[in-house]
Amino acid sequence: MTADNGTAPEGLEALNRRVAREFELLTLPAAHWVPERSIDGEPLLDVAIIGAGMAGLTAAAALRNIGVRAVTFDRRPTGFEGPWATTARMETLRSPKTLTGPALGIPSLTFRAWFEAQFGAEEWAQLDKIPRLMWMDYLRWFRGVLGLDVRNGHDIAAIRLGADHVTLEVEAAGGRSRVRARHVVLATGRDGLGGPAVPDLADNLPRERWAHSSDSNDYAALRGKRVAVVGAGASAMDSAGAALEAGAARVDLLIRRKDLPRINRGKGMGHAGSIAGYQHLPDAWKWRINSYIASEQVPPPRASVLRVSQHPNAFFRQGTALVSAWMDGRDIVVETSAGTMRFDFIIFSTGFKVDWAHRPFLAEIAASARSWADRGVPPDAEESLGAMPDLGPAFEFRPKVAGACPGLERVHCFCYPAMMSHGTVSGDIPAISDGAARLSQAIAARLYVEDVATHFQRGQDYAEPEIFGDEWVPAPPLPIAVPA
Ligand SMILES: Cc1cc2nc3c(=O)[nH]c(=O)nc-3n(C[C@H](O)[C@H](O)[C@H](O)COP(=O)(O)OP(=O)(O)OC[C@H]3O[C@@H](n4cnc5c(N)ncnc54)[C@H](O)[C@@H]3O)c2cc1C
Repeated sequence: MTADNGTAPEGLEALNRRVAREFELLTLPAAHWVPERSIDGEPLLDVAIIGAGMAGLTAAAALRNIGVRAVTFDRRPTGFEGPWATTARMETLRSPKTLTGPALGIPSLTFRAWFEAQFGAEEWAQLDKIPRLMWMDYLRWFRGVLGLDVRNGHDIAAIRLGADHVTLEVEAAGGRSRVRARHVVLATGRDGLGGPAVPDLADNLPRERWAHSSDSNDYAALRGKRVAVVGAGASAMDSAGAALEAGAARVDLLIRRKDLPRINRGKGMGHAGSIAGYQHLPDAWKWRINSYIASEQVPPPRASVLRVSQHPNAFFRQGTALVSAWMDGRDIVVETSAGTMRFDFIIFSTGFKVDWAHRPFLAEIAASARSWADRGVPPDAEESLGAMPDLGPAFEFRPKVAGACPGLERVHCFCYPAMMSHGTVSGDIPAISDGAARLSQAIAARLYVEDVATHFQRGQDYAEPEIFGDEWVPAPPLPIAVPA
Protein backbone atom coordinates (compact mmCIF):
# COMPACT_ATOMS: atom_id res chain seq x y z
CA MET A 1 0.00 0.00 0.00
CA THR A 2 1.22 3.52 -0.74
CA ALA A 3 0.37 6.96 0.57
CA ASP A 4 -1.91 9.19 -1.55
CA ASN A 5 1.02 10.97 -3.18
CA GLY A 6 2.30 7.61 -4.46
CA THR A 7 5.04 7.27 -1.88
CA ALA A 8 5.20 4.40 0.56
CA PRO A 9 3.90 5.08 4.07
CA GLU A 10 6.71 6.13 6.39
CA GLY A 11 6.46 2.99 8.55
CA LEU A 12 6.41 2.61 12.30
CA GLU A 13 10.13 3.10 12.80
CA ALA A 14 9.93 6.53 11.19
CA LEU A 15 6.86 7.34 13.28
CA ASN A 16 8.72 6.32 16.42
CA ARG A 17 11.44 8.79 15.48
CA ARG A 18 8.77 11.45 14.94
CA VAL A 19 7.38 10.76 18.41
CA ALA A 20 10.86 11.21 19.87
CA ARG A 21 11.30 14.46 17.94
CA GLU A 22 7.95 15.88 19.08
CA PHE A 23 8.81 15.08 22.67
CA GLU A 24 12.13 16.81 22.15
CA LEU A 25 10.42 19.89 20.68
CA LEU A 26 8.05 20.03 23.66
CA THR A 27 10.85 19.29 26.16
CA LEU A 28 9.00 16.26 27.42
CA PRO A 29 9.01 14.41 29.66
CA ALA A 30 9.87 16.85 32.43
CA ALA A 31 12.67 15.82 34.77
CA HIS A 32 11.64 13.80 37.81
CA TRP A 33 11.25 16.23 40.72
CA VAL A 34 9.45 14.22 43.41
CA PRO A 35 11.76 13.51 46.39
CA GLU A 36 12.74 9.84 46.73
CA ARG A 37 11.09 8.35 49.79
CA SER A 38 11.25 4.98 51.49
CA ILE A 39 9.53 3.25 54.39
CA ASP A 40 11.53 0.71 56.41
CA GLY A 41 14.06 0.61 53.59
CA GLU A 42 11.38 -0.10 50.96
CA PRO A 43 11.14 2.50 48.19
CA LEU A 44 7.86 4.36 47.96
CA LEU A 45 6.45 4.82 44.44
CA ASP A 46 5.21 8.28 43.55
CA VAL A 47 2.12 6.73 42.01
CA ALA A 48 0.89 3.16 41.48
CA ILE A 49 -1.76 2.73 38.81
CA ILE A 50 -4.05 -0.30 38.92
CA GLY A 51 -5.11 -1.18 35.38
CA ALA A 52 -3.16 -0.82 32.13
CA GLY A 53 -6.13 -0.33 29.84
CA MET A 54 -6.55 2.89 27.89
CA ALA A 55 -7.20 4.98 31.02
CA GLY A 56 -4.26 3.58 32.98
CA LEU A 57 -1.85 4.04 30.07
CA THR A 58 -3.01 7.60 29.42
CA ALA A 59 -2.70 8.48 33.10
CA ALA A 60 0.78 6.95 33.22
CA ALA A 61 1.85 8.95 30.16
CA ALA A 62 0.38 12.19 31.53
CA LEU A 63 2.17 11.73 34.88
CA ARG A 64 5.45 10.92 33.13
CA ASN A 65 5.16 14.08 31.02
CA ILE A 66 5.13 16.21 34.15
CA GLY A 67 7.98 14.44 35.92
CA VAL A 68 6.04 12.07 38.20
CA ARG A 69 7.00 8.38 38.20
CA ALA A 70 4.19 5.90 37.92
CA VAL A 71 4.27 2.11 37.81
CA THR A 72 1.20 0.47 36.30
CA PHE A 73 -0.06 -2.99 37.27
CA ASP A 74 -2.47 -5.19 35.36
CA ARG A 75 -3.62 -8.68 36.14
CA ARG A 76 -3.92 -9.62 32.47
CA PRO A 77 -1.14 -10.78 30.15
CA THR A 78 0.76 -8.17 28.14
CA GLY A 79 -1.27 -6.78 25.24
CA PHE A 80 -4.58 -8.20 26.45
CA GLU A 81 -5.70 -5.50 28.85
CA GLY A 82 -9.25 -4.23 28.73
CA PRO A 83 -12.09 -5.56 26.58
CA TRP A 84 -10.74 -5.01 23.06
CA ALA A 85 -8.97 -8.33 22.39
CA THR A 86 -10.72 -10.30 25.11
CA THR A 87 -14.45 -9.94 25.72
CA ALA A 88 -15.58 -7.31 23.19
CA ARG A 89 -17.55 -8.66 20.23
CA MET A 90 -18.06 -5.64 17.97
CA GLU A 91 -16.36 -5.51 14.60
CA THR A 92 -15.28 -1.89 14.89
CA LEU A 93 -15.13 0.78 17.58
CA ARG A 94 -18.37 2.60 18.20
CA SER A 95 -16.75 6.03 18.24
CA PRO A 96 -15.53 7.96 15.19
CA LYS A 97 -12.00 7.38 13.89
CA THR A 98 -11.00 11.03 14.30
CA LEU A 99 -11.05 11.09 18.10
CA THR A 100 -7.56 11.66 19.44
CA GLY A 101 -8.03 9.43 22.51
CA PRO A 102 -4.90 8.95 24.60
CA ALA A 103 -2.61 11.19 22.50
CA LEU A 104 -2.36 13.95 25.14
CA GLY A 105 -2.23 16.64 22.45
CA ILE A 106 0.84 15.14 20.74
CA PRO A 107 0.14 14.66 17.00
CA SER A 108 2.43 11.67 16.43
CA LEU A 109 0.73 9.75 19.26
CA THR A 110 -2.70 9.77 17.62
CA PHE A 111 -4.32 6.69 16.15
CA ARG A 112 -4.36 8.49 12.82
CA ALA A 113 -0.57 8.99 12.83
CA TRP A 114 -0.10 5.32 13.72
CA PHE A 115 -2.51 4.19 11.00
CA GLU A 116 -1.15 6.46 8.26
CA ALA A 117 2.44 5.49 9.07
CA GLN A 118 1.57 1.92 8.16
CA PHE A 119 -1.18 2.17 5.56
CA GLY A 120 -1.01 5.71 4.15
CA ALA A 121 -3.33 8.69 3.98
CA GLU A 122 -5.49 7.25 1.20
CA GLU A 123 -6.36 4.21 3.31
CA TRP A 124 -7.14 6.58 6.18
CA ALA A 125 -9.60 8.44 3.97
CA GLN A 126 -11.23 5.10 3.06
CA LEU A 127 -11.43 3.87 6.65
CA ASP A 128 -14.90 4.05 8.16
CA LYS A 129 -14.54 3.07 11.81
CA ILE A 130 -11.49 1.67 13.58
CA PRO A 131 -11.42 -2.16 13.61
CA ARG A 132 -11.57 -3.35 17.22
CA LEU A 133 -8.35 -5.39 17.21
CA MET A 134 -6.50 -2.63 15.41
CA TRP A 135 -7.34 -0.32 18.33
CA MET A 136 -5.73 -2.83 20.69
CA ASP A 137 -2.63 -2.93 18.45
CA TYR A 138 -2.47 0.84 18.63
CA LEU A 139 -2.65 0.79 22.45
CA ARG A 140 0.17 -1.78 22.49
CA TRP A 141 2.27 0.52 20.34
CA PHE A 142 1.39 3.57 22.49
CA ARG A 143 2.65 1.83 25.60
CA GLY A 144 5.80 0.59 23.86
CA VAL A 145 6.83 3.80 22.14
CA LEU A 146 6.55 5.73 25.42
CA GLY A 147 8.38 3.02 27.34
CA LEU A 148 5.76 3.05 30.09
CA ASP A 149 6.57 0.94 33.14
CA VAL A 150 3.77 -1.64 33.08
CA ARG A 151 3.86 -4.87 35.08
CA ASN A 152 1.48 -7.46 33.64
CA GLY A 153 0.38 -10.58 35.45
CA HIS A 154 0.12 -8.50 38.64
CA ASP A 155 -3.25 -8.77 40.34
CA ILE A 156 -3.90 -6.28 43.11
CA ALA A 157 -5.52 -8.37 45.81
CA ALA A 158 -5.92 -5.70 48.50
CA ILE A 159 -5.45 -2.00 49.10
CA ARG A 160 -4.45 -0.91 52.62
CA LEU A 161 -4.83 2.73 53.46
CA GLY A 162 -2.31 4.61 55.57
CA ALA A 163 -1.90 8.23 56.56
CA ASP A 164 1.21 8.86 54.46
CA HIS A 165 1.14 6.04 51.91
CA VAL A 166 -0.99 3.26 50.52
CA THR A 167 0.04 -0.40 50.45
CA LEU A 168 -0.96 -2.74 47.65
CA GLU A 169 -0.98 -6.50 48.14
CA VAL A 170 0.08 -7.93 44.79
CA GLU A 171 -0.46 -11.46 43.50
CA ALA A 172 1.99 -12.39 40.74
CA ALA A 173 3.71 -15.50 39.41
CA GLY A 174 6.31 -15.37 42.19
CA GLY A 175 3.67 -15.24 44.94
CA ARG A 176 2.27 -12.39 47.02
CA SER A 177 4.30 -9.23 47.50
CA ARG A 178 3.78 -5.68 48.69
CA VAL A 179 4.07 -2.38 46.87
CA ARG A 180 3.86 0.97 48.62
CA ALA A 181 2.95 4.20 46.91
CA ARG A 182 2.15 7.76 47.88
CA HIS A 183 -0.84 7.82 45.56
CA VAL A 184 -2.84 5.07 43.90
CA VAL A 185 -4.95 5.44 40.76
CA LEU A 186 -7.78 2.99 40.12
CA ALA A 187 -7.91 2.68 36.34
CA THR A 188 -9.90 -0.51 36.61
CA GLY A 189 -12.36 0.00 33.77
CA ARG A 190 -16.01 0.29 32.95
CA ASP A 191 -16.85 -2.13 35.76
CA GLY A 192 -14.00 -0.66 37.78
CA LEU A 193 -15.87 -0.47 41.09
CA GLY A 194 -18.15 -3.43 40.58
CA GLY A 195 -19.27 -5.82 37.93
CA PRO A 196 -22.01 -6.81 35.55
CA ALA A 197 -25.57 -5.70 36.28
CA VAL A 198 -27.54 -8.94 35.99
CA PRO A 199 -31.27 -9.22 36.82
CA ASP A 200 -32.07 -11.25 39.95
CA LEU A 201 -34.00 -13.85 37.95
CA ALA A 202 -30.65 -15.21 36.71
CA ASP A 203 -30.29 -16.72 40.20
CA ASN A 204 -32.93 -19.30 39.20
CA LEU A 205 -30.84 -20.54 36.30
CA PRO A 206 -27.75 -22.78 36.24
CA ARG A 207 -24.66 -20.60 35.71
CA GLU A 208 -23.64 -22.51 32.59
CA ARG A 209 -26.93 -21.52 30.89
CA TRP A 210 -26.37 -17.79 30.90
CA ALA A 211 -23.61 -15.21 30.39
CA HIS A 212 -23.18 -11.48 30.73
CA SER A 213 -22.04 -9.70 27.59
CA SER A 214 -18.69 -8.94 29.27
CA ASP A 215 -17.98 -12.61 30.06
CA SER A 216 -15.50 -14.49 27.92
CA ASN A 217 -18.38 -16.56 26.63
CA ASP A 218 -17.79 -19.43 24.17
CA TYR A 219 -19.98 -18.30 21.29
CA ALA A 220 -19.11 -21.35 19.18
CA ALA A 221 -21.05 -23.44 21.71
CA LEU A 222 -24.22 -21.53 20.72
CA ARG A 223 -24.35 -23.23 17.33
CA GLY A 224 -27.85 -24.59 16.76
CA LYS A 225 -29.14 -23.08 20.03
CA ARG A 226 -32.10 -20.81 20.80
CA VAL A 227 -30.54 -17.72 22.34
CA ALA A 228 -32.15 -14.81 24.19
CA VAL A 229 -30.23 -11.55 24.35
CA VAL A 230 -31.55 -9.18 27.01
CA GLY A 231 -31.05 -5.50 26.21
CA ALA A 232 -30.94 -3.17 23.24
CA GLY A 233 -27.68 -1.28 23.61
CA ALA A 234 -24.45 -1.65 21.67
CA SER A 235 -23.32 -4.69 23.63
CA ALA A 236 -26.70 -6.42 23.03
CA MET A 237 -26.17 -6.03 19.29
CA ASP A 238 -22.59 -7.30 19.63
CA SER A 239 -23.74 -10.35 21.60
CA ALA A 240 -26.58 -11.09 19.20
CA GLY A 241 -24.33 -10.58 16.15
CA ALA A 242 -21.67 -12.90 17.55
CA ALA A 243 -24.26 -15.58 18.42
CA LEU A 244 -25.85 -15.43 14.96
CA GLU A 245 -22.48 -15.58 13.22
CA ALA A 246 -21.59 -18.59 15.37
CA GLY A 247 -24.64 -20.38 13.95
CA ALA A 248 -27.29 -19.92 16.64
CA ALA A 249 -30.63 -21.39 15.51
CA ARG A 250 -32.37 -18.15 16.45
CA VAL A 251 -31.70 -15.06 18.53
CA ASP A 252 -34.50 -13.15 20.24
CA LEU A 253 -33.61 -9.70 21.53
CA LEU A 254 -35.77 -9.10 24.61
CA ILE A 255 -36.13 -5.32 24.80
CA ARG A 256 -38.10 -3.79 27.67
CA ARG A 257 -38.76 -0.49 25.89
CA LYS A 258 -41.41 -0.04 23.24
CA ASP A 259 -38.77 1.30 20.87
CA LEU A 260 -35.01 1.36 20.53
CA PRO A 261 -33.45 4.66 21.54
CA ARG A 262 -32.64 6.57 18.37
CA ILE A 263 -30.66 9.62 19.48
CA ASN A 264 -27.51 9.75 21.59
CA ARG A 265 -28.30 12.73 23.84
CA GLY A 266 -24.95 12.44 25.61
CA LYS A 267 -23.18 12.95 22.27
CA GLY A 268 -25.28 16.05 21.71
CA MET A 269 -24.07 17.47 25.02
CA GLY A 270 -20.40 16.54 24.60
CA HIS A 271 -17.94 19.25 23.58
CA ALA A 272 -14.83 21.02 24.87
CA GLY A 273 -16.96 23.25 27.10
CA SER A 274 -18.71 20.39 28.85
CA ILE A 275 -15.43 18.53 29.30
CA ALA A 276 -13.95 21.57 31.05
CA GLY A 277 -17.04 22.73 32.87
CA TYR A 278 -19.03 19.70 34.00
CA GLN A 279 -16.92 19.14 37.12
CA HIS A 280 -17.84 22.65 38.34
CA LEU A 281 -21.60 22.25 37.97
CA PRO A 282 -23.79 22.32 41.06
CA ASP A 283 -24.98 18.88 42.17
CA ALA A 284 -28.52 19.49 40.95
CA TRP A 285 -27.31 19.90 37.38
CA LYS A 286 -25.13 16.78 37.57
CA TRP A 287 -28.13 14.75 38.72
CA ARG A 288 -30.34 16.30 36.08
CA ILE A 289 -28.01 15.76 33.12
CA ASN A 290 -27.09 12.18 34.01
CA SER A 291 -30.62 11.16 34.95
CA TYR A 292 -31.79 12.47 31.59
CA ILE A 293 -29.08 10.59 29.65
CA ALA A 294 -29.83 7.43 31.64
CA SER A 295 -33.53 7.67 30.93
CA GLU A 296 -33.01 8.39 27.23
CA GLN A 297 -30.35 5.64 26.91
CA VAL A 298 -27.65 5.40 24.29
CA PRO A 299 -28.67 3.90 20.93
CA PRO A 300 -26.58 1.11 19.47
CA PRO A 301 -24.55 2.05 16.36
CA ARG A 302 -26.51 1.58 13.13
CA ALA A 303 -23.93 -0.84 11.71
CA SER A 304 -24.25 -3.02 14.82
CA VAL A 305 -28.04 -3.17 14.42
CA LEU A 306 -27.67 -4.06 10.74
CA ARG A 307 -25.15 -6.77 11.63
CA VAL A 308 -27.98 -8.44 13.55
CA SER A 309 -31.02 -7.60 11.45
CA GLN A 310 -29.50 -9.04 8.24
CA HIS A 311 -30.08 -12.49 9.74
CA PRO A 312 -33.59 -13.86 9.10
CA ASN A 313 -33.41 -15.74 12.41
CA ALA A 314 -32.93 -12.54 14.48
CA PHE A 315 -36.04 -11.17 16.19
CA PHE A 316 -36.28 -7.71 17.75
CA ARG A 317 -38.92 -7.93 20.52
CA GLN A 318 -39.59 -4.43 21.79
CA GLY A 319 -41.96 -4.05 24.73
CA THR A 320 -40.79 -7.37 26.19
CA ALA A 321 -39.87 -6.94 29.85
CA LEU A 322 -38.54 -9.92 31.83
CA VAL A 323 -40.87 -11.15 34.57
CA SER A 324 -39.38 -14.47 35.69
CA ALA A 325 -37.31 -17.40 34.48
CA TRP A 326 -36.99 -21.05 35.47
CA MET A 327 -35.78 -24.38 34.17
CA ASP A 328 -38.20 -26.89 32.68
CA GLY A 329 -36.21 -29.99 31.85
CA ARG A 330 -33.47 -28.82 29.42
CA ASP A 331 -35.35 -25.63 28.54
CA ILE A 332 -35.03 -22.19 30.05
CA VAL A 333 -38.55 -20.80 30.31
CA VAL A 334 -38.73 -17.00 30.29
CA GLU A 335 -41.94 -15.26 31.23
CA THR A 336 -42.10 -11.74 29.83
CA SER A 337 -44.64 -8.94 29.67
CA ALA A 338 -45.29 -10.07 26.06
CA GLY A 339 -45.62 -13.81 26.64
CA THR A 340 -43.62 -16.91 27.56
CA MET A 341 -40.67 -18.23 25.53
CA ARG A 342 -38.21 -21.11 25.70
CA PHE A 343 -34.46 -20.85 25.19
CA ASP A 344 -31.24 -22.81 25.51
CA PHE A 345 -29.08 -19.88 26.58
CA ILE A 346 -29.46 -16.27 27.76
CA ILE A 347 -26.99 -13.43 27.32
CA PHE A 348 -27.60 -10.47 29.62
CA SER A 349 -26.37 -7.36 27.82
CA THR A 350 -27.51 -5.28 30.73
CA GLY A 351 -24.49 -3.12 31.50
CA PHE A 352 -22.47 -2.64 34.67
CA LYS A 353 -23.06 -1.39 38.18
CA VAL A 354 -21.09 -0.17 41.16
CA ASP A 355 -21.03 -3.25 43.36
CA TRP A 356 -18.26 -3.25 45.93
CA ALA A 357 -18.90 -6.86 46.92
CA HIS A 358 -17.81 -7.84 43.43
CA ARG A 359 -14.39 -6.30 44.05
CA PRO A 360 -13.03 -7.61 47.38
CA PHE A 361 -9.72 -5.78 46.84
CA LEU A 362 -11.60 -2.50 47.31
CA ALA A 363 -13.15 -3.51 50.67
CA GLU A 364 -11.37 -0.85 52.76
CA ILE A 365 -12.38 1.89 50.34
CA ALA A 366 -15.96 0.61 50.11
CA ALA A 367 -16.30 0.78 53.88
CA SER A 368 -15.47 4.46 54.10
CA ALA A 369 -15.95 6.20 50.74
CA ARG A 370 -18.84 8.60 50.35
CA SER A 371 -21.24 8.01 47.48
CA TRP A 372 -23.63 10.37 45.76
CA ALA A 373 -26.52 8.59 47.49
CA ASP A 374 -24.97 9.40 50.88
CA ARG A 375 -25.78 13.03 50.14
CA GLY A 376 -29.35 12.25 49.14
CA VAL A 377 -30.97 11.36 45.84
CA PRO A 378 -33.20 14.14 44.48
CA PRO A 379 -36.78 13.25 43.57
CA ASP A 380 -37.14 11.92 40.01
CA ALA A 381 -33.40 11.29 39.71
CA GLU A 382 -32.04 8.00 38.37
CA GLU A 383 -31.38 6.12 41.60
CA SER A 384 -28.58 3.87 40.33
CA LEU A 385 -26.36 6.93 39.81
CA GLY A 386 -26.29 7.35 43.57
CA ALA A 387 -23.93 4.37 43.92
CA MET A 388 -21.15 6.29 42.19
CA PRO A 389 -18.51 7.74 44.49
CA ASP A 390 -18.59 11.41 45.39
CA LEU A 391 -15.07 12.36 44.33
CA GLY A 392 -12.95 15.43 44.97
CA PRO A 393 -11.14 17.55 42.36
CA ALA A 394 -8.23 15.08 42.10
CA PHE A 395 -10.67 12.18 41.50
CA GLU A 396 -9.90 11.23 45.12
CA PHE A 397 -12.35 9.31 47.28
CA ARG A 398 -13.82 11.27 50.16
CA PRO A 399 -14.78 9.78 53.52
CA LYS A 400 -18.38 9.48 54.69
CA VAL A 401 -17.21 10.92 58.02
CA ALA A 402 -14.65 13.72 57.78
CA GLY A 403 -11.23 12.63 59.03
CA ALA A 404 -12.39 9.07 59.70
CA CYS A 405 -10.21 7.36 57.13
CA PRO A 406 -6.70 8.79 56.70
CA GLY A 407 -5.21 7.85 53.36
CA LEU A 408 -8.50 7.59 51.49
CA GLU A 409 -7.62 10.86 49.75
CA ARG A 410 -4.52 9.15 48.31
CA VAL A 411 -6.67 6.86 46.17
CA HIS A 412 -7.94 8.34 42.92
CA CYS A 413 -10.84 6.87 41.00
CA PHE A 414 -9.98 7.16 37.30
CA CYS A 415 -12.55 4.76 35.92
CA TYR A 416 -16.07 5.06 34.59
CA PRO A 417 -17.89 5.58 37.94
CA ALA A 418 -16.03 8.91 38.31
CA MET A 419 -18.56 10.11 35.76
CA MET A 420 -21.08 11.66 38.19
CA SER A 421 -18.37 13.84 39.74
CA HIS A 422 -16.18 14.64 36.73
CA GLY A 423 -18.16 13.91 33.55
CA THR A 424 -17.11 11.30 31.00
CA VAL A 425 -13.37 11.93 31.14
CA SER A 426 -12.23 8.70 32.82
CA GLY A 427 -13.09 5.85 30.49
CA ASP A 428 -14.41 6.61 27.03
CA ILE A 429 -12.10 7.56 24.17
CA PRO A 430 -13.28 11.16 23.46
CA ALA A 431 -11.96 12.92 26.57
CA ILE A 432 -9.53 10.44 28.13
CA SER A 433 -6.56 12.79 27.58
CA ASP A 434 -8.42 15.66 29.27
CA GLY A 435 -9.19 13.44 32.24
CA ALA A 436 -5.61 12.19 32.46
CA ALA A 437 -4.26 15.74 32.32
CA ARG A 438 -6.64 16.81 35.13
CA LEU A 439 -5.72 13.80 37.23
CA SER A 440 -1.97 14.10 36.74
CA GLN A 441 -1.89 17.84 37.48
CA ALA A 442 -3.90 17.32 40.66
CA ILE A 443 -1.68 14.48 41.90
CA ALA A 444 1.47 16.48 41.08
CA ALA A 445 0.05 19.43 43.02
CA ARG A 446 -0.59 17.26 46.09
CA LEU A 447 2.89 15.74 45.93
CA TYR A 448 4.39 19.21 45.72
CA VAL A 449 2.32 20.70 48.54
CA GLU A 450 3.05 17.77 50.83
CA ASP A 451 6.79 18.16 50.20
CA VAL A 452 6.99 21.93 50.15
CA ALA A 453 9.51 22.04 53.02
CA THR A 454 11.82 19.69 51.09
CA HIS A 455 11.44 21.71 47.92
CA PHE A 456 12.17 24.90 49.87
CA GLN A 457 15.25 23.28 51.41
CA ARG A 458 16.35 22.10 47.96
CA GLY A 459 16.07 25.68 46.79
CA GLN A 460 18.16 26.86 49.69
CA ASP A 461 20.78 24.17 49.08
CA TYR A 462 20.81 24.82 45.37
CA ALA A 463 24.31 25.94 44.45
CA GLU A 464 24.55 26.25 40.69
CA PRO A 465 25.64 29.83 39.94
CA GLU A 466 24.04 31.73 37.11
CA ILE A 467 26.82 34.34 37.19
CA PHE A 468 30.35 34.11 38.62
CA GLY A 469 31.25 37.70 39.55
CA ASP A 470 33.65 37.93 36.60
CA GLU A 471 31.02 39.35 34.28
CA TRP A 472 31.68 42.98 35.28
CA VAL A 473 34.50 45.26 36.43
CA PRO A 474 33.87 47.02 39.75
CA ALA A 475 33.34 50.75 39.24
CA PRO A 476 36.17 53.03 40.55
CA PRO A 477 35.39 54.52 43.96
CA LEU A 478 33.42 57.74 43.89
CA PRO A 479 35.24 60.94 44.95
CA ILE A 480 34.62 61.68 48.61
CA ALA A 481 31.78 64.15 48.77
CA VAL A 482 32.86 67.55 50.17
CA PRO A 483 30.17 69.09 52.32
CA ALA A 484 28.98 72.43 50.87
C1 LIG B 1 -17.39 -3.86 24.59
C2 LIG B 1 -17.00 -2.43 24.78
C3 LIG B 1 -16.85 -1.59 23.70
C4 LIG B 1 -16.52 -0.25 23.85
N1 LIG B 1 -16.37 0.55 22.77
C5 LIG B 1 -16.08 1.86 22.94
C6 LIG B 1 -15.92 2.74 21.82
O1 LIG B 1 -16.06 2.34 20.68
N2 LIG B 1 -15.62 4.03 22.05
C7 LIG B 1 -15.45 4.51 23.31
O2 LIG B 1 -15.18 5.69 23.48
N3 LIG B 1 -15.59 3.71 24.38
C8 LIG B 1 -15.89 2.40 24.23
N4 LIG B 1 -16.01 1.60 25.33
C9 LIG B 1 -15.88 2.20 26.67
C10 LIG B 1 -14.40 2.35 27.10
O3 LIG B 1 -13.64 3.02 26.13
C11 LIG B 1 -13.78 1.00 27.38
O4 LIG B 1 -14.47 0.37 28.42
C12 LIG B 1 -12.30 1.10 27.75
O5 LIG B 1 -11.78 -0.20 27.84
C13 LIG B 1 -12.07 1.85 29.04
O6 LIG B 1 -10.71 1.83 29.34
P1 LIG B 1 -10.22 1.62 30.82
O7 LIG B 1 -8.75 1.70 30.80
O8 LIG B 1 -10.99 2.52 31.70
O9 LIG B 1 -10.68 0.14 31.22
P2 LIG B 1 -10.17 -1.25 30.69
O10 LIG B 1 -9.73 -1.15 29.29
O11 LIG B 1 -11.25 -2.22 31.01
O12 LIG B 1 -8.89 -1.58 31.57
C14 LIG B 1 -8.98 -1.86 32.95
C15 LIG B 1 -7.84 -2.79 33.30
O13 LIG B 1 -7.78 -2.90 34.73
C16 LIG B 1 -7.30 -4.19 35.03
N5 LIG B 1 -7.65 -4.48 36.42
C17 LIG B 1 -8.86 -4.34 37.01
N6 LIG B 1 -8.78 -4.70 38.32
C18 LIG B 1 -7.49 -5.05 38.55
C19 LIG B 1 -6.78 -5.50 39.71
N7 LIG B 1 -7.38 -5.67 40.90
N8 LIG B 1 -5.47 -5.78 39.59
C20 LIG B 1 -4.83 -5.61 38.39
N9 LIG B 1 -5.46 -5.20 37.27
C21 LIG B 1 -6.76 -4.92 37.36
C22 LIG B 1 -8.01 -5.08 34.02
O14 LIG B 1 -7.32 -6.29 33.85
C23 LIG B 1 -8.04 -4.20 32.78
O15 LIG B 1 -7.00 -4.54 31.87
C24 LIG B 1 -16.33 0.26 25.17
C25 LIG B 1 -16.48 -0.60 26.27
C26 LIG B 1 -16.80 -1.93 26.08
C27 LIG B 1 -16.95 -2.81 27.30
